[in-house]
Amino acid sequence: MLRTVKEHDALGIAANQVGYDRRVIVARIGGTLEVMINPMIRDRAGARRMDESCLSLPGLAVPVTRAQSIVVSYACLQCLAPHPAFTNPDHEHPGGGHRPRLELQDLEAAIVQHEIDHLDGKTLADHSAAKRTPANREILAKLKAKR
Ligand SMILES: [Zn+2]
Ligand SMILES: [Zn+2]
Repeated sequence: MLRTVKEHDALGIAANQVGYDRRVIVARIGGTLEVMINPMIRDRAGARRMDESCLSLPGLAVPVTRAQSIVVSYACLQCLAPHPAFTNPDHEHPGGGHRPRLELQDLEAAIVQHEIDHLDGKTLADHSAAKRTPANREILAKLKAKR
């Protein structure tokens, strides 16, 4: 997942985009690629509309309205060491707490919401605005023909 994001200089990716059926996403947060295991949105506020693109739908640009700020909690890679079934007791987060809990705004909030949508089986193509422009319709028709 990290390699694919880096290769494409992408803002994020969801595990099921690369055929890995787990609730894991990678999101570019504060300039680093954060691995989020079982991400859950705990709170959301405001609304903001932004043009979004997606690694899985090359060329498509869709205006999407999402929460402007969110609180997301998840397990980080160290949380689950040495085995995913156990919580690592020696591991602590900045600010304490059992799991990382981040408040994100604007672009970073949108990235996390976009990637969690993938985990839930929803992509940009499912947004009603996706088919509004001729360019997008052409891209979607080509992608459909390839499948
Ligand atoms: Zn995507
Ligand atoms: Zn952790």
